[in-house]
Order: sequence, then C-alpha cells, then structure tokens
Amino acid sequence: MPDKMSDETLDPKASSLAEEQSEEPKLENVRIVLVNTSDCRNIGSAARAMKTMGLSQLILVDPKEMPNGQAQAMAAGATDVLAGAKVVGTLEEAINDCGLVVGTSARSRTLPWPMLEPRGCGEKLIDEVSNFPVALVFGRESSGLTNEELQLCHFHVQIPANPEYSSLNLAMAVQTLSYEVRTSYLIAQEKAKEKAADDEYPIVEETERLYQHFEDALLATGFIVPSHPGLVMTKLRRLFNRARPDVKEVKMLRGMLASVERAAKK
Ligand code: SAH
Repeated sequence: MPDKMSDETLDPKASSLAEEQSEEPKLENVRIVLVNTSDCRNIGSAARAMKTMGLSQLILVDPKEMPNGQAQAMAAGATDVLAGAKVVGTLEEAINDCGLVVGTSARSRTLPWPMLEPRGCGEKLIDEVSNFPVALVFGRESSGLTNEELQLCHFHVQIPANPEYSSLNLAMAVQTLSYEVRTSYLIAQEKAKEKAADDEYPIVEETERLYQHFEDALLATGFIVPSHPGLVMTKLRRLFNRARPDVKEVKMLRGMLASVERAAKK
C-alpha cells in the first residue's frame, strides 16, 4: 500500500466523474472543411449553418475568393465563425491532426469506398470526437471533391437526395450534415446526463445504513418497542424502495434522524 495516495485514488467518485467528463462529445473538435470554394457567399452561408448547429471550426482550403462583405452578409450573426476560419493551402494541412475524416459527395463515384448514411455519419463523428479532431470535407460548387481528395477520407457520405437532382447547394449540404452531427450530439449528451443521474443513487450499503439509522432513532423515541417491533422497518423499506431517494436525499434523511436522536436524548 503506498503511504500517500494520489488525489485520484483517494476519491474514486471524483476520478470516475473526470473520466465521464473527458468522454463528453466536444463540438469544438468537429471541423468543417470547405475545399476550393468559388463563391464566398457560400462560405458565409456555411458559417451560419454551422453556428445554428453549434459548430465553430471552419477551415477553408485554398478558397478562390476570400470571404468579403458579401460573405459576412450571408453569415448574418455567424460572423464570429467566419472571422475565426482558418485558411490553408491543401486538404492535407486541414486534416493532418484528425483521427476521422468524412468526405461528402453529391453523386456515387466509380471508386467504391466505405459509405455512411447522414445519420450514421453524425453518430460516428460524435462517437469519436472525444478522442481527436474529426472533419467533414465539402467540395467545389462546380465539381465536388477530386478522387485524390476523396481518397484522403476514411468514409464518404452522400445525402440521399432526389436521384434526378442530387446536388445540394454547398451551404445546404453543410446544414444538413451539421444537423445530423447536432442530433447525435444531443442524444449523446442526454445519455451522459442519464448516466450521471444514475450514479447519484446510493449503493445498497448506504441504504442499509439509512434503515439502521431509522431503526436506532425510532427505538430511541420509543416508536419501535423492542419486544414488539412489528412491521415498521419492512414498511419503511418498501416505502423507500418505491420512492428511491438519491444520495442527497439519503444524506438529508440521515441528518434529520440525527436531530431526532439528539432531541430524544435530552
Ligand atoms: N457538381 C458537383 C456537386 C457539387 S455540390 C458534383 O457533381 O460533385 C458542392 C458540394 O456540396 C459537394 O462537393 C458536397 O460537398 C456537397 N453536396 C452537395 N450535394 C450533396 C449530397 N447530395 N450529398 C453529400 N454532399 C453533397
């Protein structure tokens, strides 16, 4: 046994909490990469689409037109996302530090590649985003992503649009896939909350201490007579099982019982 334990080992609850926090999806690790965009108004609209879905990391790969006043007008209240956009020369620079890269495509390519549905794409990005930055890559308005660029991606995603008219406006494709990221993010957040709430229930040992405390206090007040204990404790157990008090409520009940014991002793 080490004579001095680290903070982490001293409080197992605190360390499991830290673990949970590190597992929480971080939207600031989701990167939207726009490759070689021709019309900077689409960059502004993409920034707006991102911000409505809680995304902020925009990377522009060699844009044909740098964002100007027109882009700002399209960004509306999302000029902060636009102003924070990073401009790089190549797709490699934009994704070098990413652990998961998903390329988008308006049409099926001759090159078969692992495909994701938009929903599955959002799930996968959120699933992995706590480990490393992840990226969604969008192509040129005129010709999309090149085969070389698509081959830099782990997966491809295609929005299952009208097969006779499948090409969305760039910013609208950003909106659709960012929405899927957000949907998965909200589900993951809800699950994390439920898990945290579950952890707030007392373990059996703590509930047993509460029952013992009840018994001691009720003996001290004379409510339970040792020679005829009756079913008081069984009924109390049934009541508390039904109500399922959480850790804070159990603590409060124990505090009340301590005050009852003190008053009974006077
Ligand atoms: N004419 C181009 C379409 C470009 S649309 C082509 O044939 O590839 C501009 C970008 O918007 C695309 O590169 C892609 O990033 C995105 N996009 C448009 N429609 C899409 C769809 N149905 N599914 C996925 N991404 C789409």
